[in-house]
Amino acid sequence: MPKITFLGAAGTVTGSKYLVEADGKRLLVDCGLFEGSAELKQRNWERLPVDPSTIDWLLLTHAHIDHTGYIPRLVRDGFRGPIFCNPATHELCSLLLPDSAHLQEEDAQFAARKKYSTHKAPLPLYTVAESQTALSHFRDIACHDSCTISPQFTVRPHDAGHILGATWLELTVTENGKQTLVVFSGDLGRYDQPILKDPESPTRADYLLCESTYGDRDHPPGSVLDELADVINRTAKRGGAVVVPSFALDRAQMLMYYLHQLQLQQRIPQLPVYVDSPMAINITDMYVRHRADHDLKPQVLDDPFNAAEVHMTRSVEESKKINDVVSPCIIISASGMATGGRILHHLARRLPDSRSAVLLVGYQGEGTGGRALQEGAKYLKIHGEEVPVRAQVVNIGQLSAHAGKSELLRWLSGFQAPPRQTFLVHGEPVALSSLRDAIVKQYLWPVTIPAYKQTIDLSC
Ligand SMILES: [Zn+2]
Repeated sequence: MPKITFLGAAGTVTGSKYLVEADGKRLLVDCGLFEGSAELKQRNWERLPVDPSTIDWLLLTHAHIDHTGYIPRLVRDGFRGPIFCNPATHELCSLLLPDSAHLQEEDAQFAARKKYSTHKAPLPLYTVAESQTALSHFRDIACHDSCTISPQFTVRPHDAGHILGATWLELTVTENGKQTLVVFSGDLGRYDQPILKDPESPTRADYLLCESTYGDRDHPPGSVLDELADVINRTAKRGGAVVVPSFALDRAQMLMYYLHQLQLQQRIPQLPVYVDSPMAINITDMYVRHRADHDLKPQVLDDPFNAAEVHMTRSVEESKKINDVVSPCIIISASGMATGGRILHHLARRLPDSRSAVLLVGYQGEGTGGRALQEGAKYLKIHGEEVPVRAQVVNIGQLSAHAGKSELLRWLSGFQAPPRQTFLVHGEPVALSSLRDAIVKQYLWPVTIPAYKQTIDLSC
C-alpha cells in the first residue's frame, strides 16, 4: 500500500521533506534545510531514516532553501535520481544552492577558527562543488503539464503564487492498478498581488498536505503603496536615506516594482534607488525573463522594476561609494534580517542619522539585528561596534510572500469534495492548531497534524 513519511516541516516551518512510497519505489517531495534554533539545525546533520541511494526521484515545489537546501547533501550521500521542478525554480536553485554551500563553508571555517566545534576539523554540510554536482541532476517540467515519472507516479504542477516558479503539486500515485491523488500545497502566496499570479485552487484530492505558516493570523490591512509613500516622503523631506534590509529573492523585486509604481503615479520624488545585492540583481533579471510565471500587464512588462534612477551595484567598490551619498536616496540590500552582508555597512552608516529611516519589510527572526530594531533597540552591534539607533524604524507587514489565514481557507474553498485526510504541515504549533480548528469549523474535514518522522498509510 502507498505510504507517506514526514521527514521535515512537521510541527515546524522548515526542513520540508515528504517521502512517498508505492510499489517498492520512493519519491521525495521537497528537500529543505532545517533553519532556526540550534536543535532544529542539528537535524540537518542527522542521518535520514532512509538511505538516500534508495530514493528514486525528487520533486520540488519551489526554490526557497527550506524546501531545497538539503539537496546537495542528499546527492553527496548517495541520491542518484533526477530532480524535477519548474524551469524558474531550476534557475533560482542554480544561484541559491551554491550560495547556501558558500555559507556552509564559511560556517565551518568560522567554527574551526573559534574552536567551538567538537570536531578537530569542522566540515561544511556540503561544499560549493557538491552543490554544482547536485545541479546536474535537475530536469525541467512545465507548469500545468502532466509528467509521468514512472508507472507509480505522475505529477502535475500548478501556480502557487508564492515566489517566481512556485508551484503546488498534484501527485497521482498508482499501486496495484489503484490510483490515489495526493496534493502538496508547497508554500502558497497571497491573492491580488502585483507580478505573481494568484494561487490556483485544487478541486480534488484523496490526501492533502497544506502549509500553515500564517495559519493563526492574517496580514495587517491597508495599502503597501500608501505606507511606502508615507515613509519615503517623510524621510526625503528630512533629507535622509531610506534603508531597506530585504531578502534578495522576491521581496527585493516586489519593492522595486512598488517604487516604480509610486514614481509613475508621482506620489514620491524621483530619488535614486540603490539595489546593493548581486544576488537580488541576478534574480531581478530572472523575474524579467520568466514572463510566463507572472501576470504583469503588457504596458509594464518591459520595465517593471526600473524606477527613474536605479543603480544596480555589483562590486564592493560601488557598494562602498553609496556611503558618500548625502542627498535623499533609497538603499535596498541583503540580508533581509540584517544578520550579515552589505546591509550591515549601510546600517552602520545610516542608523546614527536621525533624518534617515530603516524599513523592515519581512519576517525578522529571533536574535537577528532586524528583530532588535523592530523591538526598539537603542544600539545595534555591527562588526563589533555599538551603533546608536537614531534613524526612524518602520515595519510594513503587508509585504509577505505567504498567504494569511483567510487566504489559506480561500485556497481550500475550491475542493468539490473533502479530501479523505488533510495533513497540516509547515507551521509552528500555534499556527497548525489554529488552522486545524478553522478548517474543522468551516469545512468539517478530518484534519491531522503529523509528527516528525511519522509514516501514514495512504490506502484507507
Ligand atoms: Zn517558500
